[in-house]
Amino acid sequence: MSDICPFAEKCPIFGGILKDKVFTTKAYKDKYPEAGAEGRNACKRFQCKQRF
Ligand code: SF4
Repeated sequence: MSDICPFAEKCPIFGGILKDKVFTTKAYKDKYPEAGAEGRNACKRFQCKQRF
């Protein structure tokens, strides 16, 4: 998947907090970071980061 959220590498949700919850993480990534522009635009973290 190439159209991934530009903040994914440093995002604690994407790479840290959910890492032991494989199913939850997969569902989350499918819905937000790896769902293209439409997905990440629905993410509150993404919306906040874009303001700075
Ligand atoms: S979409 Fe949201 S949760 Fe996912 S990597 Fe980007 S900022 Fe983090």
